[in-house]
Amino acid sequence: MSKVILLILDGLGDRPIKELGNKTPLEAAHTPNLDALATRGICGLQNAVGVGQRPGSDTSHLAILGYDLDKYYTGRGTIEVSGLGMELQEGDVALRGNLGTVDNNLVTVDRRAGRIEDTSPFVKDLDGLTYQGITLHIKPGTGHRAGIILRGPGLSSRISDNDPHEVGVKVHEVRPLDDSPEAAFTARVLNHFLHQAHEILKNHPLNKERRRAGKLPANYLLCRGAGYYKKIEKFSERYGLKACAIAGGGLYKGIGAFTGMTVLSVPGATGMADTDLSAKFNAALQALAGEFDFAFVHVKATDAFGEDGDFLGKKAFIEKIDQATEVFLDLPDTLLVVTGDHSTPCSLKKHSGDPVPLMMIGEGMVRTDHVTAFGERACATGGLGRLTGLMIMPEIINLLGLAPLIGD
Ligand code: ZN
Repeated sequence: MSKVILLILDGLGDRPIKELGNKTPLEAAHTPNLDALATRGICGLQNAVGVGQRPGSDTSHLAILGYDLDKYYTGRGTIEVSGLGMELQEGDVALRGNLGTVDNNLVTVDRRAGRIEDTSPFVKDLDGLTYQGITLHIKPGTGHRAGIILRGPGLSSRISDNDPHEVGVKVHEVRPLDDSPEAAFTARVLNHFLHQAHEILKNHPLNKERRRAGKLPANYLLCRGAGYYKKIEKFSERYGLKACAIAGGGLYKGIGAFTGMTVLSVPGATGMADTDLSAKFNAALQALAGEFDFAFVHVKATDAFGEDGDFLGKKAFIEKIDQATEVFLDLPDTLLVVTGDHSTPCSLKKHSGDPVPLMMIGEGMVRTDHVTAFGERACATGGLGRLTGLMIMPEIINLLGLAPLIGD
């Protein structure tokens, strides 16, 4: 059976930029390898969550991997904690957490506690707290971050964040977002844990040490993005393909873990512009030469340059990606799929609903078209037309010759 590489370049799509001669960063970049792949493949455009819809990176990835958001998406928390290796159970509510600094009036001084590097000595004193039948599970993430799970009966993810997302304002009480008793109960329980956590943290000996050293104390747990966990059908069960995920960023490892893929750790994969692209691409090839049928490879920095409005940086980074894709040029028995999760136009400095170029390359598998460049406008004329995220996996399965027959 042929193998599959799904390469997602985060925030790839863009809009014409005057300084680039009205080209997008992808169109302006010198990309001989990506263009050679486009020439050998079939191209198109895709909107991960629908035409004109602005997706987050979590929702767009789930849709591209074939998971219907109405059924499987309740909030980013479940995906983030999966990325930290926390096991979810049906009925859990998961949240993203930060250790931050508040003053005596609970006004935020710093949402990241002076960019604290390791939260583990703090969160271990919070892990396992219980209240009204609910247990708080918490695990350190990178830097100031932590993953939070509430476990027990009667929970809901329909609750607000306590994180005010800015400094100089009082932390919010968690509020229920609907009239259900579950949402009210969850908000009450979480508020209790957050008050208790503050008491533990503000008296923590390490915070006394931090204060003496002139550092901000890590004295408040800020949380956001509550998600309710319902058991999800694993990618391998859904498609019969043993899959691995290769990513630097926590959310994307989380997407892999959440969908039941094996998350491979690749030295040098940072999720930033300094990431080792060759190491990641070679790790994918190695994985496919071994036990895996499907490699999901994620590259983050294209999005970060878009969010910064840095079109020259985005163009230069796309050229780096192009150089690294040389290893994908002549793959036998492999379907290579390259796309973005959404557009992040430099002019907007945020995600947009503009469609993203998509190409599928596999000798003898795809009907090639006349497109000879990997770019937004070139791909608009390609043979794949315009797809939504949920159409991509069925198309991959079809090209592999594995699509089930509808009818007789
Ligand atoms: Zn994204």
